[in-house]
Amino acid sequence: MIAREQIHELAEFEDQSACALSFYFQPTPPRNKAHKEEAILTKDLAREALRQLESRSKSSNASDSNHKDKFESARADLDRIVRLSQDLRGTGPRAKAVFACSAQGFWREYDLPAQLSGTQLLVNRHFHLKPLAQLLGAFPSLGIVLVDRHRARLFDLRLGELTEREGFFHPLTRRGRGDGFAGYDGGHAERRVADETRQHFKFVADFLKEALDKGMFEKWILGCQETHSPPQFEAQLHPYVAQKLLGKFSAEVTHVSRNEIRSQAERIFAEAQEKRCQEAVRETLNQAGHHARGVTGLRRVLNSLELGEVQTLLVGQSYHAQAVECSGCGHLDAHLVNFCPVCGRQTREVVDVGEAILPWVIRHDIELFYVKDDPEFDKVGNIAALLRFRSEQNNNVQSIADTPAHPSLGRQKGLVGHYRGLASG
Ligand SMILES: [Zn+2]
Repeated sequence: MIAREQIHELAEFEDQSACALSFYFQPTPPRNKAHKEEAILTKDLAREALRQLESRSKSSNASDSNHKDKFESARADLDRIVRLSQDLRGTGPRAKAVFACSAQGFWREYDLPAQLSGTQLLVNRHFHLKPLAQLLGAFPSLGIVLVDRHRARLFDLRLGELTEREGFFHPLTRRGRGDGFAGYDGGHAERRVADETRQHFKFVADFLKEALDKGMFEKWILGCQETHSPPQFEAQLHPYVAQKLLGKFSAEVTHVSRNEIRSQAERIFAEAQEKRCQEAVRETLNQAGHHARGVTGLRRVLNSLELGEVQTLLVGQSYHAQAVECSGCGHLDAHLVNFCPVCGRQTREVVDVGEAILPWVIRHDIELFYVKDDPEFDKVGNIAALLRFRSEQNNNVQSIADTPAHPSLGRQKGLVGHYRGLASG
């Protein structure tokens, strides 16, 4: 399973000769000739990628021996991917991603939930991260807490994988009934049990706060018995922890199955995510309509990203737009200009700007939603952003091309140049 740091590593990667390979393998159901077809598909994709590399190496300087070496190492990567895809046949219901650039000694393989849109193989200056970004949006790291008056268990669910945190199981000694309950000591014993329960709830609540602070998970879900759901437990939650609670389901702490936990958590998360996305779209459009904390359209969104204003980015599911990227400072421009309006150097074409902004989005932990079938969102150009703040410069929206070429004017130091684009080669 892929961790946050590893995604950041992929987002940072760049190969100037455009030999960075991204392979996504989506298994098909194991029947008929499907497995065979998968292997053929990968071979076809590899052949196509090789053809692209070849035409690129011809169009650049063919006598450049360095370039030839790079081409050879990319070919070796492709062979290795084809061999791997043959081994992947029938290995089960998991998808796989491979990111490779042997010219730089880079090879990473990750298992993923089998929910990719298909098998893909791309070669470019940067790794292709959109399928990964979509998966991460669909599967954030979730904590799941099962709790009753005596016990608590903690699980985390990350990219479809459910893991129980060992050492968290927290049974309390059962006292009370049978411990002088009916006798003269009864009241005392009952109070002691109530006290222990409160301490137990407090322990779990404190643990949750610490776990969220440490970034062990982003949101959490509570499983408890419906009949005596513990309102006392929820009363112990820090407001910040309560805010991160996505929903509750009914569960008996010791007997609930892992499949039940997983399916309940995925259902609650999907509902919460759908709601959050709709809210974000409505709020962004509303804010943009009032020229407040919202912008729509590629030009304004790129500007706000460069100004570091973006809190939530909304992109249409099948959004596709071109832009240019400065070969010097990395500035992205929606106008297909030949020279960078920020530093004056030459620009190069970016085939898919939605892909080009992803490394930036990933590195800065910007909330990202892919919006499906929303006519209103479609009307504003299928790209929009909700802003954390709106800088003064942006109150009077100018095109990026019109903004003065002074990095000190609003453009935060160090932000420009962090974009990673995908040149057409
Ligand atoms: Zn520039």
